[in-house]
Amino acid sequence: MKIDRRSFLSLGIGAAAGTALTPLPWKLMDDVSIWSQNWPWTPVPEDGEVTYAHSTCSLCPGGCGISVRKVKDRAVKIEGMAGHPVNKGGICMLGLAGLQLLYGPTRVSAPLKRIGKRGEGKWQKISWREAIAEVVNHLSQLREKGEAHTVAGIMDRNRGTVPQLFERLLTAYGSPNFFRMPSVQDTHELVLHLMHGVQALAGYDVENADLIVSFGSGIIDGWGSPVRMFRANSGWKASGVKVIQVEPCLSNTAAKADIWVPINPGTEAALALGIAHVIIRENRASEFVAQYGFGFLDWTDENGKSINGFKTLVMAEYSPEKVAEITGVDANRIIELAQAVMKAKRPLALGGRGQGWTPGSTRELMAIHALNALVGNINQPGGVWAIPEPDYIRWPDPEMDQVAANGIQKGRLDGAGGQNNPYSRYLLNRLAQAVTDAKPYPVNALFVAEANPCYSLPDVKAVQAAFDKIPFVVSFSSYMDETAMNADLILPNHVFLERYEDIPAPAVMHQPIIGLARPVVSPQRNTRHLGDVVIEIAKGLGGSVASAFPWTDYMACMKEALGGKWERMAEDGFWINKGYTPPEWEKAFDTPSKKFEFSATALLNVSDAYPNAVYQPVTLEGDKSFFPLVMIFYDSMRLSSGYVGSPPFLIKTVPDTVIKGADGFVEINPETARKQSLAEGDAAVLQTPKAKIRVRVHLNDGIRPGVLAMARGLGHTAYDEYLKNKGVNVNALKGVIEDPISGLDAAWGIRAKLVKA
Ligand code: SF4
Repeated sequence: MKIDRRSFLSLGIGAAAGTALTPLPWKLMDDVSIWSQNWPWTPVPEDGEVTYAHSTCSLCPGGCGISVRKVKDRAVKIEGMAGHPVNKGGICMLGLAGLQLLYGPTRVSAPLKRIGKRGEGKWQKISWREAIAEVVNHLSQLREKGEAHTVAGIMDRNRGTVPQLFERLLTAYGSPNFFRMPSVQDTHELVLHLMHGVQALAGYDVENADLIVSFGSGIIDGWGSPVRMFRANSGWKASGVKVIQVEPCLSNTAAKADIWVPINPGTEAALALGIAHVIIRENRASEFVAQYGFGFLDWTDENGKSINGFKTLVMAEYSPEKVAEITGVDANRIIELAQAVMKAKRPLALGGRGQGWTPGSTRELMAIHALNALVGNINQPGGVWAIPEPDYIRWPDPEMDQVAANGIQKGRLDGAGGQNNPYSRYLLNRLAQAVTDAKPYPVNALFVAEANPCYSLPDVKAVQAAFDKIPFVVSFSSYMDETAMNADLILPNHVFLERYEDIPAPAVMHQPIIGLARPVVSPQRNTRHLGDVVIEIAKGLGGSVASAFPWTDYMACMKEALGGKWERMAEDGFWINKGYTPPEWEKAFDTPSKKFEFSATALLNVSDAYPNAVYQPVTLEGDKSFFPLVMIFYDSMRLSSGYVGSPPFLIKTVPDTVIKGADGFVEINPETARKQSLAEGDAAVLQTPKAKIRVRVHLNDGIRPGVLAMARGLGHTAYDEYLKNKGVNVNALKGVIEDPISGLDAAWGIRAKLVKA
């Protein structure tokens, strides 16, 4: 059978209708097929044997198993892997379109050296030998000058052998500056550390909950593992589990929930505490609270100071009437929500806005977690589980020579783990300022892999300006993204369908799982595995740096790390600790009190010392009199907001009310629009304290008056003709507001002004 271009797309999309779990109108699918015939790079496989290859998708933190249909050595379709513990045969639109990221025109086809100005796009192809030699030379020179600490590295994640190798290179070299791209996982981990006393990942047993109360989490807009959440959502519908979505705008998730609770943006913590108030008032707190909770009642610290417990605080400050004033949610509705929680056997509260690309407020997630504890749904079926961090990578610490030891002693650029933010591991939101001010010291070289900070970080113009000040920027991107465009060297990694890699800990899964990504096709371009390149750079640097990398290549390193798990993973495509159950409550908490801490005593070590979960409003940037509106941002399954840009297929599925041609749309309540003399489709000028841009207006009843909303994932200035210069990058509109506890970005929006153009 010969498969032409149209059939190729139709096959993928048509077959996906049953499994993609994001319904697409059939007409749209047909449009996509017709439109795609103009793509010269779409593969046209010859007749040949059809085979399937299993792998793990790493395009988002979901960690789904995939099964790739091949004709000879051409991949022609990606499906979800049947029986995989995360996605059970399902696949999302991004995963489905993954072939376009393999064969598409946005790939970097060979190592490139910049020959024009930064960002100009003028490159010279060089050999891998030359590219690695250039990196080694730069690093050697900095080391000789005693400036090893002025090198930094950014990856989108810190778990698994590849990120660990990347971090190990920096450590052995003498730099403490490894960064992970920020996300809500940072805050989940911090909350577990503060309230459970453990270093763990938050897992949610959504499948066994009998009520879901989501505080802005885009359950079917890409939160956690999107495919798993779609499947869970179908299960809830079938078994009558109710979903309550608390959110300022009628997102896709809110539209499909049983109850949508429109709320003043940024006040979710107050609502969680208001629900807690009613539960406590009705004497319906779980037995867990008395037996395994600390700080629910008033307590006395070691200096004899009396501290209000959670109960005193909640009863005094968060009555339904008071919470109604803060949140805009009617007091009776708050009581109804609390009654629904009390009626359920396993109610589960979820936190983290949208897909979870922003860390958010520590206290907000503490309040939501306290609600789960109040009903005893911690480490229980249908509850929140603290999943231990994967610990299969047990390399000995690298031996450091004097240069490395001196470099590490200089301390991190961002202050993470220091006096002010003792429990944070990475504060990438501070990098731009540190670079600009050259404080605590300058950054002389930056390495970026599987991340796109020049697009994805808030206040992106400041980030790009900071990058311009760094003398040597190396990107390992497989794609010509914004960060690669601003680099001096690009050493392109294989894409996810061309390489081996362990992918541990799928987002918010409540079971320990390690996925295995495997090459399903041979490399399509002159690229190399990042793990191999890191090892080669280390060996090139010689001395103790080389000694820290005893492996011949990445495969040897990965297999050694996986040890006994390797054979099972090679056979099944993943490893799962099937029998895992969380420790019983008696043994689950390693806080100073050895209990679940409603009052997190560890917070007494932080300058903002109040230990309880409270509603602490994040004051948005901008003067209210000049910027009368509030701008928020939302995620869509049709747009990728992660390290990889949306493939053409996704862009084609975005509605005309979000993007039309190059125009990006801002959504506004009709009543607010009327006051601004704006009508549907009008051209307008949108201004925030960070930027002033032209947009078009889309009226949307499903958004609170006074609020504006825009989609994440658009406004790229790099990639290919299908993605570049379409719409607005919302990260250009917003800045950073540091959370007082974590130092992470807690901004959920920004003040804005919208006038007719
Ligand atoms: S949800 Fe994420 S991991 Fe799963 S198929 Fe989609 S992009 Fe890949």
